[in-house]
Amino acid sequence: MTLKFFNSLTRKQENFKPIKKEEVSIYTCGPTVYDFAHIGNFRAYVCADILKRYMKYSGLKVKHVMNITDVDDKTIKNSQAQNTPLSDYTEKYTKAFFEDLKKLNIDSADVFPKATETIPEMVNIIKTLMDKGIAYKGEDGSIYFSITKFKDYGKLANLNLEDLQEGASGRVKSDEYEKESAHDFALWKAYDESDGDIFWETDIGKGRPGWHIECSAMSMKYLGEQIDIHTGGIDLVFPHHQNEIAQSEAYTEKKFVNFWIHNEYLQVEGKKMSKSLGNFYTLRDLLEKGYSAKAIRYLLLSTHYRTQLNFTLDGIDAADAAVKKINEFISNISNIKGNVDFNEKVPKICEKAKKGFEKAMDKDLEISQALAAIFEMMKEINILASEKKISKDNKEDILKLMDMFDSVLGIIEKEDLNITDEIRTLVDEREKARAEKDWKKADEIRDKLAEKGITVVDTKEGPVCKKR
Ligand code: AMP
Ligand code: ZN
Repeated sequence: MTLKFFNSLTRKQENFKPIKKEEVSIYTCGPTVYDFAHIGNFRAYVCADILKRYMKYSGLKVKHVMNITDVDDKTIKNSQAQNTPLSDYTEKYTKAFFEDLKKLNIDSADVFPKATETIPEMVNIIKTLMDKGIAYKGEDGSIYFSITKFKDYGKLANLNLEDLQEGASGRVKSDEYEKESAHDFALWKAYDESDGDIFWETDIGKGRPGWHIECSAMSMKYLGEQIDIHTGGIDLVFPHHQNEIAQSEAYTEKKFVNFWIHNEYLQVEGKKMSKSLGNFYTLRDLLEKGYSAKAIRYLLLSTHYRTQLNFTLDGIDAADAAVKKINEFISNISNIKGNVDFNEKVPKICEKAKKGFEKAMDKDLEISQALAAIFEMMKEINILASEKKISKDNKEDILKLMDMFDSVLGIIEKEDLNITDEIRTLVDEREKARAEKDWKKADEIRDKLAEKGITVVDTKEGPVCKKR
């Protein structure tokens, strides 16, 4: 098995080799908790989730860190507008974010560090950068990173260094800016009246950190100076990730991240879903409209992470149909009694699906092909099921494999159905009654099953038990 990922740093697919054999380190730029995250943001977290889950599926151990940006220009501005202390304000959205992660079945990171709890580490990096002459204090006391002092500045974002050097005499204090305004950027923002009561008194002065230094400090604190993978949406390549590389590598004099993995946008009518354009849905909006979280998860994961995905409500309906198909398949197979001989065709079908799934996922997480392998298998197994050619052992093998696939996909409804022999007998008797057109008896049995908390649904492949 060789995993290959597209590395934004080299702009090509590369074989993945972890730094430490026993554990892969992944850092994901987490949310800025100034509002509810929209489902475009969740595309980034679902993509990271698929990456992480597939690594685990492949037998690798993973340590995953996702930060919470709980101090920046936006959180300060919004908390002030609502006259709420910053920590109370960000707490509300952090809690909402964790609830949404759970609903979308996104595996929890091992650590969710908060920027406000990592200030001493940031100050330490900034101090060292000043000692090295790479960072300097401006007239207002803010501290800037001098981009011309870092020879690889612009490499990740594919910027032309010569253009940069011409324009590099200026500075930017805001956290977000365009490539055209690549200048020395703020590591530390000196206190300003508009910051209100948000400041830290430190060795480098009274103020607060810039956004970029937050991630460098949190990544190094929890994962060490060099990590395997750093993830985020494509909009973070510049300036955020470019600046993270500059600060971290100037500080440690080591390569910061081996693989930069970036997801493409969730779009609406050709434009990035974003707060500023107002073309967004939060998860809450969609759940209130009656869409299921599993369908939204499926929608976000079923397009390759480096392909733009156009969001529509019809798209969620199609995703919902796919999720239902997979869950109905599991339910049908679980209900098979299997009193027939072992069918040699089943392991062949399963093996083909497993190989197809793995081959696709190994190659830069080619999810569409991986899903196609699963659907093909379901089709072939459904035919055997309708012919009653699936044995008890076959059934266990199929369910085990679907469980393995789901350790990556995370979309199977885990219904705790306890199908006892008594229930199975009742289902069989009902089938017999129906075949004999004894509708009265069939209905009586249906009521008996209902008393036991089971609903029988008649499908092409035969009756299926569900929880009432
Ligand atoms: P933010 O809270 O703005 O820092 O964004 C959190 C994550 O969501 C980052 O990785 C962004 O790159 C990502 N992101 C924001 N908008 C979109 C979008 N429309 N599609 C995919 N990812 C996005
Ligand atoms: Zn970040």
